[in-house]
Amino acid sequence: MKERVMKIEKQKIYIPHAEIPVVEQCNLNCSLCNSHAYLIDNSEYPLEQFKKDVDILSEYIHFGFLTFMGGEPLLCENLYEYINYAKEKQLGEVCRVLTNGFLVRKMSPELMEAMDVLEISHYPQMKATVSELNDYLEPLSKKYGFTYYIKKIKYFNCIDTVALSEEAAQQGYEKCSRITDGCSIFNGYYYKCMRPKTTNLYLEKEYGIISDVNMREADGLKISEENFVERFIAYRNRKERLEACKYCLMGLESECSAIEGLKHWAYGYPWVIKTFYKSRFLYHGFKMFKKIFQYDEGAHYTSDEYIRTECHKVRDKSKRHPVL
Ligand code: SF4
Ligand code: SF4
Repeated sequence: MKERVMKIEKQKIYIPHAEIPVVEQCNLNCSLCNSHAYLIDNSEYPLEQFKKDVDILSEYIHFGFLTFMGGEPLLCENLYEYINYAKEKQLGEVCRVLTNGFLVRKMSPELMEAMDVLEISHYPQMKATVSELNDYLEPLSKKYGFTYYIKKIKYFNCIDTVALSEEAAQQGYEKCSRITDGCSIFNGYYYKCMRPKTTNLYLEKEYGIISDVNMREADGLKISEENFVERFIAYRNRKERLEACKYCLMGLESECSAIEGLKHWAYGYPWVIKTFYKSRFLYHGFKMFKKIFQYDEGAHYTSDEYIRTECHKVRDKSKRHPVL
Protein backbone atom coordinates (compact mmCIF):
# COMPACT_ATOMS: atom_id res chain seq x y z
CA MET A 1 0.00 0.00 0.00
CA LYS A 2 1.47 3.34 -1.01
CA GLU A 3 2.40 5.72 1.75
CA ARG A 4 -0.25 8.36 2.23
CA VAL A 5 1.80 11.41 3.08
CA MET A 6 0.06 14.19 4.96
CA LYS A 7 1.06 17.70 3.94
CA ILE A 8 0.97 20.63 6.28
CA GLU A 9 -0.39 23.97 5.06
CA LYS A 10 -0.98 27.01 7.22
CA GLN A 11 0.14 24.84 10.16
CA LYS A 12 -2.74 22.47 9.58
CA ILE A 13 -3.10 19.10 7.91
CA TYR A 14 -3.74 19.76 4.24
CA ILE A 15 -6.42 17.76 2.39
CA PRO A 16 -7.02 18.76 -1.25
CA HIS A 17 -10.76 18.31 -1.48
CA ALA A 18 -13.87 17.80 0.66
CA GLU A 19 -17.34 16.98 -0.57
CA ILE A 20 -20.10 18.37 1.59
CA PRO A 21 -23.57 17.06 0.74
CA VAL A 22 -25.85 19.69 2.24
CA VAL A 23 -28.94 17.72 1.22
CA GLU A 24 -29.05 14.13 0.04
CA GLN A 25 -32.17 14.24 -2.12
CA CYS A 26 -32.36 15.55 -5.66
CA ASN A 27 -34.92 17.14 -7.97
CA LEU A 28 -33.87 14.72 -10.71
CA ASN A 29 -34.15 11.02 -10.57
CA CYS A 30 -31.26 9.71 -12.62
CA SER A 31 -31.37 5.97 -12.38
CA LEU A 32 -28.95 4.67 -9.84
CA CYS A 33 -26.98 7.85 -9.50
CA ASN A 34 -23.59 7.84 -7.85
CA SER A 35 -24.96 9.59 -4.75
CA HIS A 36 -27.96 7.22 -4.71
CA ALA A 37 -30.08 10.36 -4.46
CA TYR A 38 -32.99 8.59 -6.15
CA LEU A 39 -33.36 6.46 -3.00
CA ILE A 40 -33.59 9.40 -0.61
CA ASP A 41 -36.68 11.57 -0.10
CA ASN A 42 -35.60 14.13 2.39
CA SER A 43 -32.37 14.36 4.27
CA GLU A 44 -30.23 17.35 5.08
CA TYR A 45 -27.03 18.15 6.87
CA PRO A 46 -28.40 20.47 9.56
CA LEU A 47 -26.67 23.85 9.61
CA GLU A 48 -26.07 23.70 13.37
CA GLN A 49 -24.35 20.32 13.06
CA PHE A 50 -22.35 21.62 10.10
CA LYS A 51 -21.12 24.54 12.18
CA LYS A 52 -20.09 22.25 15.03
CA ASP A 53 -18.18 20.04 12.59
CA VAL A 54 -16.50 23.00 10.92
CA ASP A 55 -15.46 24.43 14.30
CA ILE A 56 -13.47 21.28 15.03
CA LEU A 57 -12.22 20.51 11.53
CA SER A 58 -11.02 24.05 10.85
CA GLU A 59 -8.77 23.93 13.89
CA TYR A 60 -6.73 21.10 12.44
CA ILE A 61 -7.42 20.73 8.73
CA HIS A 62 -7.13 23.03 5.75
CA PHE A 63 -8.80 22.01 2.49
CA GLY A 64 -7.87 23.01 -1.04
CA PHE A 65 -11.44 23.19 -2.21
CA LEU A 66 -14.83 22.45 -0.76
CA THR A 67 -17.60 21.13 -2.95
CA PHE A 68 -21.08 21.87 -1.70
CA MET A 69 -23.21 19.28 -3.36
CA GLY A 70 -26.14 16.90 -2.95
CA GLY A 71 -28.25 15.26 -4.14
CA GLU A 72 -29.01 18.71 -5.40
CA PRO A 73 -27.47 21.48 -3.27
CA LEU A 74 -29.71 24.24 -4.67
CA LEU A 75 -32.62 22.55 -2.87
CA CYS A 76 -31.02 23.88 0.29
CA GLU A 77 -32.47 27.35 0.66
CA ASN A 78 -29.82 28.64 3.02
CA LEU A 79 -26.86 27.12 1.24
CA TYR A 80 -25.10 30.49 1.41
CA GLU A 81 -25.01 30.22 5.21
CA TYR A 82 -23.05 26.96 4.99
CA ILE A 83 -20.59 28.53 2.57
CA ASN A 84 -20.22 31.72 4.53
CA TYR A 85 -19.55 29.80 7.71
CA ALA A 86 -16.91 27.63 6.04
CA LYS A 87 -15.30 30.80 4.72
CA GLU A 88 -15.46 32.56 8.05
CA LYS A 89 -13.60 29.63 9.60
CA GLN A 90 -11.17 29.46 6.64
CA LEU A 91 -11.90 25.81 6.12
CA GLY A 92 -10.87 25.83 2.46
CA GLU A 93 -9.39 27.98 -0.30
CA VAL A 94 -12.21 27.66 -2.82
CA CYS A 95 -15.95 27.04 -2.27
CA ARG A 96 -17.58 25.33 -5.21
CA VAL A 97 -21.26 24.52 -5.71
CA LEU A 98 -21.86 21.45 -7.85
CA THR A 99 -25.37 21.35 -9.28
CA ASN A 100 -27.49 19.84 -12.04
CA GLY A 101 -28.43 23.42 -12.90
CA PHE A 102 -32.21 23.07 -12.91
CA LEU A 103 -32.57 25.67 -10.17
CA VAL A 104 -29.89 28.16 -11.18
CA ARG A 105 -32.48 30.81 -11.98
CA LYS A 106 -33.61 30.63 -8.36
CA MET A 107 -30.19 31.26 -6.84
CA SER A 108 -30.31 34.06 -4.31
CA PRO A 109 -27.96 37.08 -4.42
CA GLU A 110 -26.56 35.89 -1.06
CA LEU A 111 -25.59 32.55 -2.56
CA MET A 112 -24.04 34.10 -5.64
CA GLU A 113 -22.02 36.40 -3.44
CA ALA A 114 -20.90 33.55 -1.19
CA MET A 115 -19.73 30.94 -3.70
CA ASP A 116 -16.46 31.13 -5.62
CA VAL A 117 -17.30 28.62 -8.30
CA LEU A 118 -20.51 27.26 -9.76
CA GLU A 119 -20.20 24.05 -11.71
CA ILE A 120 -23.18 22.75 -13.63
CA SER A 121 -23.48 19.16 -14.78
CA HIS A 122 -25.61 19.67 -17.86
CA TYR A 123 -27.61 16.48 -18.35
CA PRO A 124 -29.59 15.64 -21.47
CA GLN A 125 -32.87 16.12 -19.54
CA MET A 126 -32.18 19.83 -19.25
CA LYS A 127 -34.27 22.00 -21.54
CA ALA A 128 -32.08 25.09 -21.28
CA THR A 129 -29.14 24.85 -23.63
CA VAL A 130 -25.58 25.56 -22.62
CA SER A 131 -25.70 28.79 -24.55
CA GLU A 132 -28.90 29.90 -22.78
CA LEU A 133 -27.32 29.14 -19.43
CA ASN A 134 -24.25 31.09 -20.49
CA ASP A 135 -26.37 34.10 -21.39
CA TYR A 136 -28.01 33.93 -17.99
CA LEU A 137 -24.91 33.34 -15.91
CA GLU A 138 -22.35 35.54 -17.62
CA PRO A 139 -23.63 38.90 -16.28
CA LEU A 140 -24.38 37.42 -12.86
CA SER A 141 -20.92 35.96 -12.54
CA LYS A 142 -19.46 39.40 -13.22
CA LYS A 143 -21.82 41.14 -10.85
CA TYR A 144 -21.32 38.72 -7.95
CA GLY A 145 -17.75 37.67 -8.66
CA PHE A 146 -18.03 33.92 -9.11
CA THR A 147 -16.64 31.74 -11.87
CA TYR A 148 -18.90 29.22 -13.53
CA TYR A 149 -18.43 26.14 -15.65
CA ILE A 150 -20.92 24.03 -17.52
CA LYS A 151 -19.98 20.42 -18.04
CA LYS A 152 -22.03 18.49 -20.56
CA ILE A 153 -22.70 14.98 -19.27
CA LYS A 154 -23.84 12.37 -21.73
CA TYR A 155 -22.90 9.19 -19.96
CA PHE A 156 -22.83 7.70 -16.54
CA ASN A 157 -20.29 5.09 -15.62
CA CYS A 158 -20.81 2.09 -13.47
CA ILE A 159 -19.22 2.28 -10.02
CA ASP A 160 -21.50 0.10 -7.87
CA THR A 161 -21.16 -3.59 -7.37
CA VAL A 162 -22.19 -6.30 -4.96
CA ALA A 163 -19.60 -8.79 -6.05
CA LEU A 164 -16.07 -7.85 -5.03
CA SER A 165 -13.95 -10.48 -3.34
CA GLU A 166 -12.14 -9.61 -0.11
CA GLU A 167 -8.92 -9.40 -2.05
CA ALA A 168 -10.30 -7.14 -4.79
CA ALA A 169 -11.94 -4.86 -2.22
CA GLN A 170 -8.68 -4.45 -0.31
CA GLN A 171 -6.79 -3.91 -3.54
CA GLY A 172 -9.29 -1.27 -4.64
CA TYR A 173 -8.93 0.53 -1.34
CA GLU A 174 -5.16 0.52 -1.50
CA LYS A 175 -5.16 2.09 -4.95
CA CYS A 176 -8.01 4.48 -4.37
CA SER A 177 -6.99 8.07 -5.04
CA ARG A 178 -9.97 9.39 -3.11
CA ILE A 179 -8.30 8.54 0.17
CA THR A 180 -5.33 10.76 -0.58
CA ASP A 181 -7.04 13.55 -2.47
CA GLY A 182 -10.43 13.90 -0.93
CA CYS A 183 -12.99 13.13 1.67
CA SER A 184 -16.61 13.65 2.51
CA ILE A 185 -18.04 15.45 5.51
CA PHE A 186 -21.58 14.79 6.56
CA ASN A 187 -23.62 15.10 9.71
CA GLY A 188 -20.95 14.73 12.38
CA TYR A 189 -18.69 12.37 10.44
CA TYR A 190 -15.56 12.66 8.35
CA TYR A 191 -15.32 9.96 5.65
CA LYS A 192 -12.50 8.96 3.34
CA CYS A 193 -14.97 9.06 0.48
CA MET A 194 -18.70 9.50 -0.11
CA ARG A 195 -19.48 5.80 -0.50
CA PRO A 196 -20.16 4.78 3.14
CA LYS A 197 -22.96 7.30 3.43
CA THR A 198 -25.40 5.53 1.13
CA THR A 199 -24.08 2.03 0.55
CA ASN A 200 -26.33 0.36 3.17
CA LEU A 201 -29.34 1.99 1.60
CA TYR A 202 -28.32 1.01 -1.90
CA LEU A 203 -27.76 -2.62 -0.93
CA GLU A 204 -31.03 -2.86 0.93
CA LYS A 205 -33.25 -1.09 -1.59
CA GLU A 206 -31.67 -2.49 -4.72
CA TYR A 207 -30.81 -5.99 -3.65
CA GLY A 208 -32.55 -6.67 -0.33
CA ILE A 209 -29.14 -7.15 1.28
CA ILE A 210 -29.12 -6.09 4.93
CA SER A 211 -25.53 -5.65 6.00
CA ASP A 212 -24.81 -6.14 9.69
CA VAL A 213 -22.40 -3.19 9.49
CA ASN A 214 -23.78 0.33 9.60
CA MET A 215 -21.32 1.94 7.21
CA ARG A 216 -22.32 5.49 8.08
CA GLU A 217 -20.89 4.83 11.52
CA ALA A 218 -18.30 2.12 11.01
CA ASP A 219 -16.57 3.66 7.97
CA GLY A 220 -16.46 7.22 9.24
CA LEU A 221 -14.65 9.19 11.89
CA LYS A 222 -16.86 10.87 14.44
CA ILE A 223 -15.76 14.46 14.45
CA SER A 224 -16.89 15.54 17.90
CA GLU A 225 -15.19 12.87 20.03
CA GLU A 226 -12.04 13.68 22.00
CA ASN A 227 -8.51 13.61 20.60
CA PHE A 228 -9.60 14.40 17.09
CA VAL A 229 -6.10 14.72 15.62
CA GLU A 230 -4.85 11.40 16.98
CA ARG A 231 -7.98 9.64 15.83
CA PHE A 232 -7.82 11.41 12.47
CA ILE A 233 -4.24 10.32 11.79
CA ALA A 234 -5.02 6.74 12.75
CA TYR A 235 -8.12 6.78 10.55
CA ARG A 236 -6.33 8.25 7.58
CA ASN A 237 -3.41 5.83 7.84
CA ARG A 238 -5.61 2.82 8.35
CA LYS A 239 -4.47 -0.06 6.16
CA GLU A 240 -7.70 -2.02 6.25
CA ARG A 241 -10.30 -1.12 3.71
CA LEU A 242 -13.67 0.38 4.49
CA GLU A 243 -16.70 -1.84 4.57
CA ALA A 244 -18.07 0.18 1.64
CA CYS A 245 -15.08 -0.78 -0.55
CA LYS A 246 -16.67 -4.22 -0.95
CA TYR A 247 -19.39 -2.62 -3.03
CA CYS A 248 -17.40 -0.03 -4.94
CA LEU A 249 -15.48 -0.11 -8.19
CA MET A 250 -13.89 3.29 -7.77
CA GLY A 251 -10.62 2.05 -6.31
CA LEU A 252 -10.23 -0.56 -8.99
CA GLU A 253 -10.68 2.22 -11.51
CA SER A 254 -7.84 4.24 -10.06
CA GLU A 255 -5.10 2.75 -12.16
CA CYS A 256 -2.47 5.44 -12.09
CA SER A 257 -3.07 7.12 -15.43
CA ALA A 258 -1.26 10.24 -16.59
CA ILE A 259 -4.32 12.29 -15.64
CA GLU A 260 -4.56 10.78 -12.17
CA GLY A 261 -0.89 11.64 -11.66
CA LEU A 262 -1.40 15.21 -12.89
CA LYS A 263 -4.48 15.67 -10.75
CA HIS A 264 -2.71 14.29 -7.72
CA TRP A 265 0.20 16.69 -8.28
CA ALA A 266 -2.08 19.69 -8.80
CA TYR A 267 -4.16 18.84 -5.76
CA GLY A 268 -1.02 18.99 -3.66
CA TYR A 269 -0.87 22.79 -3.98
CA PRO A 270 -3.72 25.06 -2.89
CA TRP A 271 -2.47 27.84 -5.17
CA VAL A 272 -2.75 25.52 -8.19
CA ILE A 273 -6.34 24.69 -7.21
CA LYS A 274 -7.16 28.37 -6.83
CA THR A 275 -5.56 29.33 -10.13
CA PHE A 276 -7.25 26.42 -11.89
CA TYR A 277 -10.74 27.39 -10.82
CA LYS A 278 -10.22 31.04 -11.61
CA SER A 279 -8.93 30.35 -15.10
CA ARG A 280 -11.36 29.24 -17.77
CA PHE A 281 -8.39 28.61 -20.02
CA LEU A 282 -6.87 26.06 -17.62
CA TYR A 283 -10.21 24.48 -16.80
CA HIS A 284 -11.14 23.92 -20.44
CA GLY A 285 -7.59 22.94 -21.33
CA PHE A 286 -7.69 20.23 -18.68
CA LYS A 287 -11.05 19.03 -20.00
CA MET A 288 -9.56 18.74 -23.47
CA PHE A 289 -6.59 16.86 -22.08
CA LYS A 290 -8.96 14.40 -20.38
CA LYS A 291 -10.81 13.92 -23.63
CA ILE A 292 -7.61 13.15 -25.50
CA PHE A 293 -6.61 10.58 -22.89
CA GLN A 294 -10.18 9.24 -22.73
CA TYR A 295 -10.12 9.68 -19.01
CA ASP A 296 -13.25 8.46 -17.26
CA GLU A 297 -14.29 10.28 -14.16
CA GLY A 298 -16.16 8.42 -11.46
CA ALA A 299 -19.56 8.10 -11.53
CA HIS A 300 -23.05 6.84 -11.95
CA TYR A 301 -24.62 3.88 -13.69
CA THR A 302 -27.92 3.10 -15.37
CA SER A 303 -30.93 0.98 -14.53
CA ASP A 304 -30.76 -1.16 -17.63
CA GLU A 305 -30.84 -4.80 -16.56
CA TYR A 306 -28.02 -5.84 -18.83
CA ILE A 307 -25.81 -3.04 -17.66
CA ARG A 308 -26.69 -3.77 -14.07
CA THR A 309 -25.43 -7.31 -14.53
CA GLU A 310 -22.28 -5.91 -16.02
CA CYS A 311 -21.89 -3.68 -13.01
CA HIS A 312 -21.39 -6.66 -10.78
CA LYS A 313 -18.21 -7.41 -12.58
CA VAL A 314 -15.12 -5.29 -12.59
CA ARG A 315 -15.94 -2.42 -14.86
CA ASP A 316 -15.06 -2.59 -18.49
CA LYS A 317 -13.72 0.83 -19.38
CA SER A 318 -14.88 0.52 -22.96
CA LYS A 319 -18.49 0.54 -21.80
CA ARG A 320 -20.09 3.87 -21.23
CA HIS A 321 -23.77 4.20 -20.70
CA PRO A 322 -26.16 6.96 -21.70
CA VAL A 323 -27.66 9.03 -18.94
CA LEU A 324 -31.27 8.03 -18.27
S1 SF4 B 1 -26.90 12.10 -10.88
FE1 SF4 B 1 -26.93 14.16 -10.03
S2 SF4 B 1 -28.73 15.08 -10.94
FE2 SF4 B 1 -28.98 12.90 -11.20
S3 SF4 B 1 -30.14 12.21 -9.40
FE3 SF4 B 1 -27.98 12.02 -8.89
S4 SF4 B 1 -27.45 13.90 -7.84
FE4 SF4 B 1 -29.36 14.25 -8.98
S1 SF4 C 1 -15.43 2.83 -0.98
FE1 SF4 C 1 -14.65 3.09 -3.07
S2 SF4 C 1 -14.15 5.28 -3.24
FE2 SF4 C 1 -14.30 4.76 -1.06
S3 SF4 C 1 -12.25 4.23 -0.38
FE3 SF4 C 1 -13.25 2.34 -0.95
S4 SF4 C 1 -12.69 2.02 -3.09
FE4 SF4 C 1 -12.28 4.18 -2.62
